[in-house]
Amino acid sequence: MSAPEPDKDCIFCKIAVGEIPAEIVHATELSVAFRDVNPQAPVHVLVVPRDHYENAAEVAHWAPAAASDMIATARDIAEKEGLDDGYRMVFNTGPAAGQTVFHAHLHLLGGRSLEWPPG
Ligand code: C5P
Repeated sequence: MSAPEPDKDCIFCKIAVGEIPAEIVHATELSVAFRDVNPQAPVHVLVVPRDHYENAAEVAHWAPAAASDMIATARDIAEKEGLDDGYRMVFNTGPAAGQTVFHAHLHLLGGRSLEWPPG
């Protein structure tokens, strides 16, 4: 499959190409990472594939290298941010799970004690 077309109405596609500003913390050939505008923890970074896929499962299916890159990128950021005691990677998938932006994104959360189970 060739790379999917950018979705002209997608906010994360626009962030990925620099059309909408965001606090970018890391970028690779396949993914871009930026701070969440509404942080839920002292460190809350979103890692998104440059190409538009609706959710993480779609990335893993169609672009496994990008899925792997997103996770490795989150690990690198966690290390850089000093999250030595642990951190959480979350992929909300679908409305019932709280997904509100339908461009795949990994939430990297850390810097405080995180409860389980989540709400
Ligand atoms: O998993 P979910 O789809 O709910 O997460 C979307 C996330 O994108 C939210 O945490 C929201 O704060 C964040 N966001 C952002 N910058 C935007 C729009 C949304 O960081 N411009």
